[in-house]
Amino acid sequence: MTSLHASDVSLSLSGQHILRSVSLSVQKGTVLGLIGPNGAGKSTLLRLLAGLKMPDAGELRLGDQNLFAAPAHWRARQIAFMPQEVVRPPPMTVRHVAALGRLAHGESGGVAYTHPKVTEALQKTGLSESADRPAHRLSGGELARLALCRMLCVDAPILLADEPVAALDPAHALMVMSLFRQAARMDGKTVVIVLHDLALAARFCDKLVLMQNGAVRAHGEPEQVLAEPLVRDVYHVSTQRIGRVPVPWDLCS
Ligand code: ADP
Ligand code: MG
Repeated sequence: MTSLHASDVSLSLSGQHILRSVSLSVQKGTVLGLIGPNGAGKSTLLRLLAGLKMPDAGELRLGDQNLFAAPAHWRARQIAFMPQEVVRPPPMTVRHVAALGRLAHGESGGVAYTHPKVTEALQKTGLSESADRPAHRLSGGELARLALCRMLCVDAPILLADEPVAALDPAHALMVMSLFRQAARMDGKTVVIVLHDLALAARFCDKLVLMQNGAVRAHGEPEQVLAEPLVRDVYHVSTQRIGRVPVPWDLCS
């Protein structure tokens, strides 16, 4: 039921083709990494997968269910979405901001603040000791973890995150990627993560979709998608390898 599918999805904005006949499938219990250069259409595609925007053509499905045929409150419980822009929250405590994720279940106030999922998500994201701090005073990296925490509080079967590790130091980036992998493996979540870090993509994702100019350029196992000629062609960089993990090395002319 909780697999996610896009079939021949196209979208134009302001007269420009932003997505061109994009198809992908993500299976329950797996992590799909969405990679590609800036402007490739990754964030736009993720917003469509989240049911936040309708395509001009094509279909989005959650299992057998057409995403847009279902009511919005159903989508809100099925899909937790973390946008690319981390917005500085109003003066509320970290726990209160995290608990906003429970609104998807119609829960607010004390019912939400004391919900076991909120306590668990604070702990998983390393924010338990910051639970009573004012959220608007957190650092950029802490805010990114709070956004993830709030997403986990929804307890949805589908997790969609747009560049969740972009603002994080290496230790926290590894922690967050491990959390997503654990959510897939242990809790059976269906996970899609937009990433620029090719090494993290290679290590933590089960499958990768490489986008270029609004279309899927490659889709498959990380080793196939991150093959040297393909990375060179799409990103215009050469790579060095640490085992099977590519590290961008030099600009190619
Ligand atoms: P990515 O996340 O891969 O960097 P985006 O999905 O944000 O790419 O954007 C893909 C392309 O769509 C970019 O060229 C961007 O400028 C364009 N775009 C995004 N939103 C709009 C919009 N509302 N109107 C016109 N063009 C847009
Ligand atoms: Mg983006």
